[in-house]
Order: sequence, then structure tokens, then C-alpha cells
Amino acid sequence: MLEEILTGGAKALGISLPEGAIKKYRIYLDALLSVNTDLNLTAIEDEDQAARLHFLDALGLVSRFDLGASSVIDVGAGGGIPGLALKLASPDIELTLLDATGKKVRFLTEVTELLGLSAGCVCGRAEELGREPEYRERFDAAVSRAVARLNSLAELCMPFVRVGGHFLAMKAADSDEEILEAGSAIEKLGGRLCDTREYTIPGTDIVRRVVIIEKTAPTSERYPRRWAAIQKRAL
Ligand code: SAH
Repeated sequence: MLEEILTGGAKALGISLPEGAIKKYRIYLDALLSVNTDLNLTAIEDEDQAARLHFLDALGLVSRFDLGASSVIDVGAGGGIPGLALKLASPDIELTLLDATGKKVRFLTEVTELLGLSAGCVCGRAEELGREPEYRERFDAAVSRAVARLNSLAELCMPFVRVGGHFLAMKAADSDEEILEAGSAIEKLGGRLCDTREYTIPGTDIVRRVVIIEKTAPTSERYPRRWAAIQKRAL
């Protein structure tokens, strides 16, 4: 059951959920699973599995990095993980959910309203919005899961982050090589790898990792490039 999984999971991760959050996770999960096949939002169809692999995974990030009252952009939010799940656990964040697919953004808009949350739902490509003054270097944190390899992902995410803010990439525990490979991209984009923090998703043996990159200098106007260039010639 979702309710037990969340209660036990939050405890195991050492965090507490705000009052009423579990009811909202229930509404969110039902919405997510009901549109699942239509929108191809997630490959996970089993309720308990979704609770662990989506919600507890996002809570893992909450347990390892204090977002406080930051402004946060979720790049490639899909069905809203991690962004919406973070917002339910940390209502003080000011959230923007970004995705390139219209039907996913429609779902995000609807579910945000259903949950009574205020969050911006934006349809667009990260590499285009990251050049717009309204979005560029406007966020305390950019978060992202399952969108691209870290070297490309950094180019999509870092432009959104203000100097002094953080880019938080949710990755598998065995991402050492990927992190190493992204070293020069992170540096060129004005970042510094601060830390990697691991957690086990409660109720599973899946170890996950938050890669924490601090923005130490403004990102050069050269970046982000177009997606084809990002892919072809990773920084
Ligand atoms: N973060 C979610 C979804 C991952 S699927 C999760 O972990 O469940 C990847 C998502 O990223 C898709 O919804 C896709 O539309 C979006 N995406 C991929 N490239 C993008 C880009 N350049 N800009 C914005 N969204 C992008």
C-alpha cells in the first residue's frame, strides 16, 4: 500500500512529510497510473513499485539535499518526477516543471491543479528556454532524472542555475564513469562537482545517487547549443 510505503520509507530516509502529504501522493499516484499507458509516462505500472521507484526515489533526494525555499526547475519532468514529488514533500519550494512534450505538460498542468499546488508547467526544449532571459540563471536549483547522460544533461540544466545555486542530477549508484566523463562539460558550463550522495530506496536494494554540482561562474553565452550539437560533440 502506498500509504505504508511512504510512511515507512520517509522514516527510513530520516525525513518527515508535511501533514496531508500522503493523501496528495495518493491522488497523484492514481492520476499517474490512470494515464500511464496513454501518455507512456512511465514504464512502471504496479502501484507499490511506482510508490517506491518514483516517490521514494524523489524523497531520497529530499533526504540528501536541503532545498529549503528555493526556486527549482525540473528539466524533462515527464510525469512530474522528481519535481512534483519534491513539492509535496517540501511545499516551500517554488517549482517549475519543464518538458518538451505537449501531452505530458498538459498532464502536469491538470495534476498540479488537482493537487491544489502552485507550480509553473512549461512546454519547451531546455536548450531553447535556457537561452531566454526569463529562465536563464533564474533558479536556485535545477533537478533532473532519466533525461540524458550527465555531460549532455549538464548543458541542458546548468544555464538555468544562478551562480551559487546547484544542479542536482539523480543517477544510478554506478555512475562513476559517467561523472568522470562529464568533468570537462561541468567545468566549461561554470560548475564544480561538489559531492555525490547515495541512498537506498527503502524496500528495495536499489542504490541511487544525487550528483551535486555547484554553479560557481556564469555559463558562457555559447551554451546551451542545439540538441544535435550537444549530442554530437559533448563538451
Ligand atoms: N523525469 C521523468 C521523465 C523522464 S523521461 C522521470 O524520471 O520519470 C525524459 C523526459 O524528458 C521526457 O518526458 C522528454 O519529453 C523530456 N525531454 C527530453 N529532452 C528534453 C529537452 N531537451 N527539453 C525538455 N524536455 C526534454
